[in-house]
Amino acid sequence: MNKKDFSNLPLSKEMLSNLNEIGYKEMTPIQAQSLPYILEGRDVIAQAKTGSGKTAAFGIGLLHKLQVKKFRVQSLILCPTRELADQVAKELRMLARFKHNIKILTLCGGSAFGPQLGSLRHGAHIVVGTPGRVLKHLKKETLSLEDLDTLILDEADRMLDMGFSEEINEVLSFVPKQRQTLLFSATYTDEILDISASIQKDALNIKTVSTE
Ligand code: ADP
Ligand code: MG
Repeated sequence: MNKKDFSNLPLSKEMLSNLNEIGYKEMTPIQAQSLPYILEGRDVIAQAKTGSGKTAAFGIGLLHKLQVKKFRVQSLILCPTRELADQVAKELRMLARFKHNIKILTLCGGSAFGPQLGSLRHGAHIVVGTPGRVLKHLKKETLSLEDLDTLILDEADRMLDMGFSEEINEVLSFVPKQRQTLLFSATYTDEILDISASIQKDALNIKTVSTE
C-alpha cells in the first residue's frame, strides 16, 4: 500500500477517477498529512511552502462533504487577493468537474459590486473571496452564511500581513459556531497560532519541513 495513494482516503469513486483524469497521481506531502484529518472533520492548521498543493488539500475536503442538492453556501474560502481567489476558484472547478451543477462564486474587491448582487441572487454552494468584499455583502445581507459548514483561511499569513485580521474577525460573527475551520499558510508564526486559538477548536498542527 502506497501511503500517497488518494485511494487510501474515503473518497467517492467519481472523485478518485477525476483526480486521476486531471493528472493527480499521488498526494503531495501536505495532502497526505492533512487530508485524513480534514476528511474526519477536524480543524487543521496546515503549513507548507508555496506550490505544495494546499488548494487541493482543502478543496478535496470541502467537495467531499458538499451537498449539491442543498443550494446554499456551505463553504467559504477567504484569500488575500483577487488573483489568488481566482486561482483557487479555478482549481476547485477542476476538482469538482464530476459534480454537475455546482456553483462556485468569487466575491472580491476591485470587481464591480452590482454584478456580484445578481450572481448572489442566483445562489452558490461555495464562495471564494477577499475578506473586505465578503464582509460588505454580509453587512448588506446580500450574502447569508447561515448554512456554512466549512470556513477556510487560505494564505492566512499573508492576510494577516495585509492587515485583514479585523475584517476576518468580523466575518466570523456571521458564520455558525458549529463548523470546520481550516487554516492554510506558507509560514508558521505566532500570529497564525493566535488566530487559530481564536477561531479554531482543538486544531491539529501540520507542518511540512522544506527540504531545500
Ligand atoms: P499552494 O497553495 O501550496 O501554493 P497549489 O495548491 O497552488 O499550491 O498547487 C500547486 C500546483 O500543484 C497546482 O498547479 C496544482 O494543480 C498542482 N497539484 C496539486 N496537488 C497535486 C497532486 N496531488 N498531483 C499533481 N499536481 C498537483
Ligand atoms: Mg495556495
